[in-house]
Amino acid sequence: MKKFINLLLALFLVFTQTYTAKSAEVKNMNSLINQDRLVNSFIRYAKIDTGSDPVIAEKKIPSTEKQFDLANLLAEELKKLGLKDVNVNKHCVVTAKLPANIDNAPIIALFAHVDTAHDVPTGVVKPQIFDYKGGNITLLNGTVINAEDLKDEIGHKIITTDGTTLLGADDKSGVAEIMEAITVLVENPSIKHPEIKVVFTPDEETGLGLSIFDTKNFEADLAYTVDGGAPHELDTETFNAFNPEITITGKVVHCGYAYGKMINSLELANEFVSKLPKNETPSTTRGREGYYFVDEISGTAEKTTVKMLVRDFDLKKAQERIEFIEKTLKKIEKDNKGCKIEFNPKPVYQNMKEYFNQMPEVITYAEEGIRRSGLTPVRNSVRGGTDGSHLTLEGLLTPNLGAGGINFHSQTEFVSAETMTKCCENILNILQVWTEKAPEIMPTIEKRRK
Ligand SMILES: [Zn+2]
Repeated sequence: MKKFINLLLALFLVFTQTYTAKSAEVKNMNSLINQDRLVNSFIRYAKIDTGSDPVIAEKKIPSTEKQFDLANLLAEELKKLGLKDVNVNKHCVVTAKLPANIDNAPIIALFAHVDTAHDVPTGVVKPQIFDYKGGNITLLNGTVINAEDLKDEIGHKIITTDGTTLLGADDKSGVAEIMEAITVLVENPSIKHPEIKVVFTPDEETGLGLSIFDTKNFEADLAYTVDGGAPHELDTETFNAFNPEITITGKVVHCGYAYGKMINSLELANEFVSKLPKNETPSTTRGREGYYFVDEISGTAEKTTVKMLVRDFDLKKAQERIEFIEKTLKKIEKDNKGCKIEFNPKPVYQNMKEYFNQMPEVITYAEEGIRRSGLTPVRNSVRGGTDGSHLTLEGLLTPNLGAGGINFHSQTEFVSAETMTKCCENILNILQVWTEKAPEIMPTIEKRRK
């Protein structure tokens, strides 16, 4: 019995020692981050108006020249930090490289976007700082951030706007966290790390920013976008997306002589929309459920265009929705002799989840890194797309890490200094995991390089 107790005691000692060693390591990364510097960088970036424009983006990236204001500033700061090959190209993509200080390790890219959303006033952002103690926050123009949204932030330093614009924590918090992580590595050359590529991109919010990015010739073995929500979340799944466009051409005759002759395309569009399942819209679905969304109807009796979004995590189900639309339109065309209906399903992006099976470590190593920051990682399904879905489909596996902002795309958007620090810590810890695991993973990486 005594032997058994001794054994238990020994096991307990080993366990506590390992645990202490681990938490010492965790504390170590955290203590290297300069929270004030991180907040100051964020505020410096947030003040620069970088709103993108989805209409212009169809023709030109960047859609707005002002995105260069931040891109050029970041390039200057990266140069000052001593990074190599710092460049801003004509499409406003900033790239830079921090060379490895270990041999034989994967090249890891970190992505964040410089633009902000167009659906809320951008303009000149005036960030405000609160030491949050509880309750609602009333912004300068009277806009209220509800206590419910702030429940995890008590005791934190909160950064908001004055209420007239968005804050742009999406994704300037991601930009600032990457900059701080790189700064920590530059300041502490004893921390081993692989080669890191920093990439700041334009026009994420228009969905077209990476259309000009040459993924095939971009040298990296894997990547992370830092553009998500909470620090414990890891976005590993996105929708399969189609943006169908339907053009209905009717037959117009003077109303006085229209009996039995006129085909009103607006009525046919209305008939089509009424046949879509009511319980499969964005407002009647959640979690992993997909939907149909009628985004725009415009036209005259003669010709009507319907623009839609079709979304589903399951590709087969998304394709079934497209087939349902096609079948419904064919029936309407058949029942209304003389009308013409054109249908373009327009696939936009695909769920990245299946692609990660090629190298599941992009997920599991990230989870290990998040755990080292003292958090319990959660895999998240984004009801949308990320720049990472585009990169992943092109062969660069890119899950999305949390950047910490809350109430994205609104005047009540905010981020806390503590959360940004946690997200930065995640980046550093994930890089550490890849450094330690390099000998194990390199055979897989070498195979993928071929
Ligand atoms: Zn974003």
